[in-house]
Order: sequence, then structure tokens, then C-alpha cells
Amino acid sequence: MRAEGGRAILIEGVEKAFGATRVLKGVSLTLRQGEFMALVGPSGCGKTTLLRIVAGLESADAGRVVIGGRDVTRARPADRDIAMVFQNYALYPHLTVAQNLAVPLAMRRLSALERLPLVHRLVPGNAARRRAIAARVGEAAAMLRIAHLLDRRPGQLSGGQRQRVALGRALVREPAAFLMDEPLSNLDAELRAGTRQEIVDLHRRAGVTTIYVTHDQVEAMTMADRVAVMMEGEVLQLGTPREVYDDPCDIRVAGFLGSPRINALPGIATENGVSLGTLALPLRAAAAPGSAVTIGLRPEAIRVAPLGLACRVEHLEYLGAETLLHARLEAPEARIVARLPVAAGEGLSRGDAVRLGADWERALVFGAD
Ligand code: ATP
Repeated sequence: MRAEGGRAILIEGVEKAFGATRVLKGVSLTLRQGEFMALVGPSGCGKTTLLRIVAGLESADAGRVVIGGRDVTRARPADRDIAMVFQNYALYPHLTVAQNLAVPLAMRRLSALERLPLVHRLVPGNAARRRAIAARVGEAAAMLRIAHLLDRRPGQLSGGQRQRVALGRALVREPAAFLMDEPLSNLDAELRAGTRQEIVDLHRRAGVTTIYVTHDQVEAMTMADRVAVMMEGEVLQLGTPREVYDDPCDIRVAGFLGSPRINALPGIATENGVSLGTLALPLRAAAAPGSAVTIGLRPEAIRVAPLGLACRVEHLEYLGAETLLHARLEAPEARIVARLPVAAGEGLSRGDAVRLGADWERALVFGAD
């Protein structure tokens, strides 16, 4: 058991189908103790289903889940030592923030029948127990900077504050793992950025192993120790944000991470590199000479260059700090998006001829497979 890690999570060969639809096709992931892992992927790729299986809210058709060294594949959610935070933070509206935070503690080791009246009364046991709970609630509230809100009810809080209370409720129990499913998606952009940082800080201080589901690549890249990129029921790549961005294992991962999307240019493998139109590029291609390859080039690696590829400006997006240039490459035919310093975009307009070069050493080459 020790070998499976203190309070780490092991997901092994998990499969799940709903009717004829295979939603998870054998997913394996290992989280180190205290690690923050973001699970990202396009809508419908199976992220939520996987998280629900880890939580015990859904059963796997095959595979197993180990949390904190214990095989919990068949354990009830309440017996898994996890806390979940969802996008719709269901708080009890008639209870104060302090009471909402106390609920998971007060309910500990109680049966479902015993729990029900407790939510309404919330007079948990004897005075010593009450004091212990109050102390723990105070700690969690301080950590989340909501101590000044303890006497309010959810209806008197902003969306961001409510979400912090929901986080606090997950935190008070000191679980082996946090499972979060798009916890910020109901917040507006500004609050989302702030709360993002709060969750990161919280994770740093509490050190609880966390799986964070999101379809937002910025959240995944900025928050996580490692990112698991999922598509169509499979984990395509697991790595640090840098690894998955700079060295994606295939064009699907490369295309999912980065905004605007990575450019995909049609090249041909040669004896000593890759050709792109008239350019011979000294890139490493694991493909037979003569075969078609895709050259992946990030928009930020492209610049205006007198000896570059001949392109035609399609349109420009001025973003204040930079300009996005959308152009059409004439031979071979392809669309290109370049992220340019504002000065480089000045003087260009739709229909103009422009030559684009790149930091070709940053280009990625993908074979047909
Ligand atoms: P999103 O980001 O949109 O929430 P997701 O990656 O979390 O997507 P899931 O919610 O895991 O995706 O869903 C994966 C697939 O499984 C989808 O095609 C969905 O329609 C299907 N699915 C999920 N739950 C059920 C269910 N209970 N019954 C039938 N199909 C389901």
C-alpha cells in the first residue's frame, strides 16, 4: 500500500460507457501527494465523468481508483475521504456562512437519517465538540479571508464570496483529495482571475492533492503543477504546463493549447529537414522523405521578415498591447495567424502583400500518424 503513495491518487485503466457510447477508453493517471492536476479537454471528452468516478458518484465499467493508498473503486462517496467543489456551489441558504462551513464537520460519522435534522438545527453534540468545530471553521475562514462574513447568509454574498464559502466547506474536513469541476465558470472574468489565484494559494497552504476539471486552458496552464489533456475519452498527454505547450505529443494537443491556435502548415519531409513551399527548413521530422507532415508554428513565433513566405493580409485585430495578423499563405495554401508587436502591424491593411518569417527552431513537426 505504501508504494501507492500517502495521500496521492491513482487512476488505473478506467473505462466507462453510457449505452453504446464509450466515454472513457482506459484512462490512467497518477497524482503525487499534494499535486495540483488540471484535467483539460474540449466539451464532452469525458472529464466530468472521470471526476465523478473518482468521487464515487458514478461507477467505472473497468479499472480502479486508489486514494490515499486505499482502493476505493467500490467505496461509497462518503467513504472516500474526498471533498468536491462544483460550479454551482450549493450552499444552504437558510444557514449562515459559519454554519455552512460547520455542516461537513458536524455531519462527520453520522448516518443520513441523523444528518437531516442537523442541517436545520446545527447544534453539533457537546460543548467541547462545538468548540473544536468553531475553531476549525475559524481556521478555514481565515485561510479563505471570509472571517468577516461568517454571520451572513449566502443570499448576502457576492458570487465570488459564495464560491469561497464553498471552497471553505471543502477545506474544513481536511480531505485526502479535492475534486473540483469547473468551480469558477459561474464567475465573471475579473472574479475568475482573482479566485483562480486564491485557489492556487489555498492549495499551496493546505497541500491537498487536487484534480481540477476545466475546459479553460488558461486556468489549466496557470494553476496546475501538471496538466492532463483529454480528448475523446483518452488522456493524450500528461506534463507540466510548459511541456504540454512547448512539446505537445500530437497536433490535437498542440491545437487545443494556445490562443490563437497554433498554425498548422502543410510541409514535406526531406532528406535533411522539411520543406515548406520554397523554404527548406532544418527541422527534425520523424517521417520518410517525401511524406506529408504538418508544421506547427505558434502565432508568437512568427514575424514580418523581408525574406519570409509570401502572404496576403486577410485582416488585423488590434488588441492594444499587440496585433493579430490573419494572413493567407499562397504556396502552399494555408491560413496563418501571427501575434505581432503593434508597431509591426502598423501600415498593413487588408489585401496587402506581406512576407512572414519565423523562429523556425520553435516549429513542431508532426507526421501523418
Ligand atoms: P463538459 O466540459 O461539456 O462538461 P466533459 O468533458 O466533462 O464535458 P462529460 O460530462 O464527462 O464530458 O461527458 C462525456 C460524454 O458522456 C458526453 O458525450 C456526454 O453526453 C456523455 N454522458 C455523460 N453523462 C451521461 C449519462 N449519465 N448518460 C448518458 N451519457 C452521458
